[in-house]
Amino acid sequence: MSKQVVTRFAPSPTGFLHIGGARTALFNWLFARGRGGKFLLRIEDTDRARSTPEATQAILDGLTWLGLDHDGEVVSQFARAARHAEVAQELLSEGKAYKCFATQGEIEAFREAARAEGLSTLYQSPWRDADPATHPDAPFVIRIKAPREGATVIADAVQGDVTIRNDQLDDMVLLRSDGTPVYMLAVAVDDHDTGVTHVIRGDDHLNNAARQMLIYEAMGWPLPVYAHIPLIHGPDGKKLSKRHGALGVDEYQKMGYPAAGMRNYLARLGWSHGDDEFFTDAQAQDWFGLDGIGKSPARFDFKKLENLSGQHIAAAEDAALLHELGGFLKVTGQAGLSEDKAALMAAGMYCLKERAKTFPELLDKAEFILSDRPIEPDEKAAAQLDNVSRSILKELTPRLQTATWSREDLEAAAMGFAAEKDMKFGKLAGPMRAALAGRSATPSVFDMMLVLGREESLARLQDAAQGAE
Ligand code: GLU
Repeated sequence: MSKQVVTRFAPSPTGFLHIGGARTALFNWLFARGRGGKFLLRIEDTDRARSTPEATQAILDGLTWLGLDHDGEVVSQFARAARHAEVAQELLSEGKAYKCFATQGEIEAFREAARAEGLSTLYQSPWRDADPATHPDAPFVIRIKAPREGATVIADAVQGDVTIRNDQLDDMVLLRSDGTPVYMLAVAVDDHDTGVTHVIRGDDHLNNAARQMLIYEAMGWPLPVYAHIPLIHGPDGKKLSKRHGALGVDEYQKMGYPAAGMRNYLARLGWSHGDDEFFTDAQAQDWFGLDGIGKSPARFDFKKLENLSGQHIAAAEDAALLHELGGFLKVTGQAGLSEDKAALMAAGMYCLKERAKTFPELLDKAEFILSDRPIEPDEKAAAQLDNVSRSILKELTPRLQTATWSREDLEAAAMGFAAEKDMKFGKLAGPMRAALAGRSATPSVFDMMLVLGREESLARLQDAAQGAE
């Protein structure tokens, strides 16, 4: 049996959870969940000056909204500093790392001289092979003894073999002179200690992989599979900027995209499964693999996002949708639904969710439920309620009064009435919409009447008919 898959998302808490980070998290989540594996969350908070608890919270909130649940506790990288230092000490005692006493000034002088001679400015410490007996009593850093010959090959699952000449990699510092570990060491140790088998992350970390591999190799640890995914670009092919949608995922929640639609869209940003555009989580987990990740940057496209979002709203279960709508109202600072309105929304969800691409659109269609009598028609609807229309509504109302409140009966009554009056049903529907919803674009009049019920529907029609001759 092969080893259990373990992936991780390792954000630095220096800002919101942006769209690229969310996609990285999603890819790791899909990969693990589809293979009965684990998906870990590690907060890379070693940069104390830039890491904030608010940013950590924003990341957690974003992941929660997206439904990307992780396994086990959230790991703080900073809290593991002692363990990182321990690995540096172990490498030191095995002769795979060394104490370097070079001062900043000496390093600068080395670089100056190398530059003047047109040589590589990568620092080569004279302490690499120094006899410990010659060590001064002075501050030192611990550097890894990196191979100087040959090459390091990253067998990347997305990029293919990426070869980096070892003379391009210096003896990087593992432990600073104050004893604190560097980031590169922390990442390798944490990934190893938590059993990470697959490192899936943005390709801005590709060069780091070579350095992290040096630590794995020095420690004799088995390497994880690396998969560096191309970054996301704007629709114009340029680096994603705020203008393109490089926002925090909370902004997408506030724009009213359902989480399932967002997951579907983010999965398609750089990964594909044949021609499939719309899919469920179960399908995505089943289908997701590293071989489906493209090598070129994906382009962010709001139109596609909207389209998928609409399909997910239409496909969602009514109760789940209503619950998520509650979350949308909350994050956008709007009042929640009263019990009565929530019940009506639940009853009407079947006709609201068709063709609503976002929650604001869904709410707009729900205006007939959310408004109370007397219904204030908007400008377009008011134009439908001229004298003639009002007298037609006045005549129609008693006909509906005697109808059983079933779709067939209501249709028969309204259509029959229109035929009698020799008018197209569309002509009748306009004033009815205006009376029932105060809007001109609404669900069908029959859906509205069925959802509102007999009493409320008739009252609204009567209100509108009032004053007619
Ligand atoms: N903390 C890094 C970042 O936020 C990710 C490091 C990694 O995935 O190895 O970009």
